[in-house]
Amino acid sequence: MTDLAKHIALLDTHLARFRKDGIVNLIGGKDVAGSGGSFETRSPVDDSLIATVSRSTAADVDAAARAAKAAFPAWAAMEGKERKKILHRIADQIVARADEIALCECWDTGQAWRFMSKAALRAAENFRFFADQAPGARDGQTLHAPGQLNVTSRHPIGPVGVITPWNTPFMLSSWKIAPALAAGCTVVHKPAEFSPLTARLLAEICREAGLPDGVLNLVNGFGEDAGRALTEHPDIKAIAFVGESRTGSMIMKQGADTLKRVHFELGGKNPVIVFDDADLDRALDAVIFMIYSLNGERCTSSSRLLVQDTIAEDFHARLAARVRNIKVGHPLDPATEVGPLIHKVHFDKVMSYVEIGKAEGATCAAGGARLGESGWFVTPTLFTGATPDMRIAQEEVFGPFLTSIPFKDDAEALAIANNVAYGLTGYLWTENLTRALTFSDSLEAGMIWVNSENVRHLPTPFGGVKASGIGRDGGDWSFDFYMETKNTSFALGKHKIQRLGA
Ligand code: NAD
Repeated sequence: MTDLAKHIALLDTHLARFRKDGIVNLIGGKDVAGSGGSFETRSPVDDSLIATVSRSTAADVDAAARAAKAAFPAWAAMEGKERKKILHRIADQIVARADEIALCECWDTGQAWRFMSKAALRAAENFRFFADQAPGARDGQTLHAPGQLNVTSRHPIGPVGVITPWNTPFMLSSWKIAPALAAGCTVVHKPAEFSPLTARLLAEICREAGLPDGVLNLVNGFGEDAGRALTEHPDIKAIAFVGESRTGSMIMKQGADTLKRVHFELGGKNPVIVFDDADLDRALDAVIFMIYSLNGERCTSSSRLLVQDTIAEDFHARLAARVRNIKVGHPLDPATEVGPLIHKVHFDKVMSYVEIGKAEGATCAAGGARLGESGWFVTPTLFTGATPDMRIAQEEVFGPFLTSIPFKDDAEALAIANNVAYGLTGYLWTENLTRALTFSDSLEAGMIWVNSENVRHLPTPFGGVKASGIGRDGGDWSFDFYMETKNTSFALGKHKIQRLGA
């Protein structure tokens, strides 16, 4: 039996119960069907039905928000070291079920096994990292002033809503839910309608690991009804959202009446800048990895290559040869490097940019075609000779689609790099550290890597500027969002108080 055949057989056993019972909500520790009927989740591999999924209405969201509100006082009051134990148990169970999670994720999203098997373990790391932070989450400062001692402390903000997208959904959800739970918040999670499988697994794992009922609630459904109701609910104090910039803008409006605190991780059109003094072999590997891994359906992907004109021709030739060689195939095949795109609507969007790029006059140097007749497979695509104002150089394609733009000198590279609506990540390739420092200082991005692909260190801040987001995750930054900071001021001695009406 090949590895692919083994994976398919194993997946079948994991999917059997979802095929039979569908994917239902989990509210207050109980499995409940949504009151709005159901919708289908289909595999991007062959468009076959995976399962039906509860379609939740505002009434279901209300039930979940009430469960989260009821569970909040006890969870918030629990000592951090006890929350830590539970979060570690969740991590243990994620590790124990990592293959099941990865298989389901691949089948539901089209992401390749080689990446999803690691993403499941990374989700466990996220839980472990924030588990260890839980005992210190409340810590504050003491601030002395003349005649006064100030003590700050942090308190969980209350029940929060977590709304996640369909790209690497399990890992991304853990990145939001783990810090919220560590802080003492309770959660209502609304996963993306295109990838509900692993959100259900996470909710089940949390229940089995001993997370008290109501602390994590799952409501499936569409953005415009379930998502919207969550952002408008008065008992939900904050919304952590990952998704498109225009959805973020809608959520901000929807949450305005209830003064929601929001944290947004949004889109990107991230530049990777290859200067002529770079280690070109390493730069080439990183450029390819950062746009074609995870099908290019990745917010931090380097979708704009800015390459110095003196080296552009040679770099493009090597790049195109490698891109044509990328293995596109079944996501459960360990050899596959790029799988199918999430669904037809997204496939059509990505393919439309091939036509846009050609019409704009850029050169399609690799890919640009559908692969096979079933499923949403595209050949990894490279456009060269683009100019900064083209749509393929400005808009987020969110697929295995790279746009390359040549530049003359550092000043021009910086102007091109900053001339987009987004500002999530940037990648610089140069052996000249002064150049890297000067450049990164002016680059409009929340996260910059020099001579590296995206390598995350969990205590560092994660987030974007401009249309790429609001706020930061990671380390203590996550607690800034999920907690309120309180200051209590003690008078030292008896200072003079102004006596009105005396
Ligand atoms: P999306 O914005 O369409 O959907 C994301 C989630 O929002 C889904 O759960 C959806 O149901 C929900 N939603 C939609 N409309 C809503 C509304 N009116 N109210 C409340 N919820 C609503 O995004 P997507 O297509 O699922 O994901 C891809 C996008 O996510 C890309 O733009 C990508 O760059 C971005 N992303 C950003 C990061 C980051 O860290 N910056 C990470 C991953 C993905």
